[in-house]
Amino acid sequence: MSAKIISGKEIAAQIREELRKEVAGMKEKYGVVPGLVTILVGKNPASVSYVTGKQKTAHELGFNSIQDDQPEDISEEDLLSIVDKYNKDPKIHGVLVQLPLPGHINEKKILNAITPDKDVDCFHPVNVGRMMIGGDEVKFLPCTPAGIQELIVRSGYETSGAEVVVVGRSNIVGKPIANIMLQKGKGANATVTVVHTGTKNLEEHCKRADILIVAAGVPGLVKPEWIKPGACVIDVGVNRVGEKKSEKTGRMIPILKGDVDFDAAKEIAGAITPVPGGVGPMTITMLMKNTVKAMKDTLKS
Ligand code: NAD
Repeated sequence: MSAKIISGKEIAAQIREELRKEVAGMKEKYGVVPGLVTILVGKNPASVSYVTGKQKTAHELGFNSIQDDQPEDISEEDLLSIVDKYNKDPKIHGVLVQLPLPGHINEKKILNAITPDKDVDCFHPVNVGRMMIGGDEVKFLPCTPAGIQELIVRSGYETSGAEVVVVGRSNIVGKPIANIMLQKGKGANATVTVVHTGTKNLEEHCKRADILIVAAGVPGLVKPEWIKPGACVIDVGVNRVGEKKSEKTGRMIPILKGDVDFDAAKEIAGAITPVPGGVGPMTITMLMKNTVKAMKDTLKS
């Protein structure tokens, strides 16, 4: 039987609708809206497209959203003072610096300069530490891993007691999703294995997974025979494998493939995310959720 397709597009749309209502309600009650600034250095086309998407979504949800474009040759010192300006701005609740930054700027220094209370990407070591401790200590969850957790929970998969296998150990996907899944609590409480380039028998580990989360950046790495029948497969990989002409616009667009051989895997898995349209739409949505939380936290204090 063919797997249920977990539509990130549909789940992201549901969450955005929930957020839109929440934002409207808080505007009426407290007269404040969430403020998000996205700082873009230079004109890298992929980065321009990412920040445009973030700004568009923030506008749609009724945020105060600011796009701050800076030249490629901005000094590190000037960029730090821009971050500082937004750190102190009470109308801004989320500060995001789009990566990658030009080589003359120390990325770590910039990310660490964002005040943890406005670090809606959850890259600051203080927030990463809070996530690791879990429970009440958590301020934000990083956007892609938080989106993965929502996809699993909202498509009805039980994580408690499940064997979760994560392929990849990056700081933005593999390590945080493994950490989130092993916490005690709803949408977690799993037995987690992390496999990576140093793992001896990838296939044997993957075969045990009730929930298989793949974030390797290698197209088609996970073969259908590595999947336990009925498993929930979350394919985080986004790999450009070529180009094609768009039927809508006639322009050349990238052909994207995940890390899992989707067509064959869907005949074995119980549920699977497509690429594109799976994890991708969730990432921006969780950024919006974090910004709403950052604003709500200021109302409490
Ligand atoms: P990364 O390159 O930083 O990390 C990849 C990890 O996979 C590494 O830890 C590595 O050890 C492991 N790995 C690579 N090849 C392997 C192999 N052959 N066997 C076992 N392990 C292997 O990548 P990342 O930033 O974690 O991203 C992973 C993928 O997810 C990429 O395709 C990226 O584009 C995609 N991604 C998507 C989103 C989204 O919003 N949809 C967000 C972030 C990343």
